[in-house]
Amino acid sequence: MIKSIITVETKKGTHILSKKCKEIQETKLDKIKEIIKDLMDTANSCKNPRAIGLAASQIGYPVRVFIIRWGSDWLALVNPKVVSRSEATRPYVETCLSRPGMAGIKTKRHKIIVLEYFDVIRKQMITRKFSSLDAVVVQHEMDHLEGVLV
Ligand SMILES: [Zn+2]
Repeated sequence: MIKSIITVETKKGTHILSKKCKEIQETKLDKIKEIIKDLMDTANSCKNPRAIGLAASQIGYPVRVFIIRWGSDWLALVNPKVVSRSEATRPYVETCLSRPGMAGIKTKRHKIIVLEYFDVIRKQMITRKFSSLDAVVVQHEMDHLEGVLV
């Protein structure tokens, strides 16, 4: 289902975007799949700007799940944890769908990051290395899980 994206302008009590998200039980597969489907539907509906990543908290679920664009599809990461990251960093200019209309914000990101996460298709934890733009996007989404916006 396409959800509306929560932004810094959304009025709603204690703001979900600034809260640390909780792990979701990996046995709750149906719930996890529903969240991922909503993330993909919502991200696919974003045309201007196009979405390259979306965290569950941005559509109202305060759990540690996000998707990133992966070729012509999406990759879903559930309960991701950092395994390692390169010391080398790169500057980047990022925008966020939860900060509509804001100019790009300068960030510094690790060039390479290795994450361990639960994969809903294989139904197991997997480890994956991210580099170039993918590394930037996963670090941006990992920040969302901590309640941090660029
Ligand atoms: Zn964002």
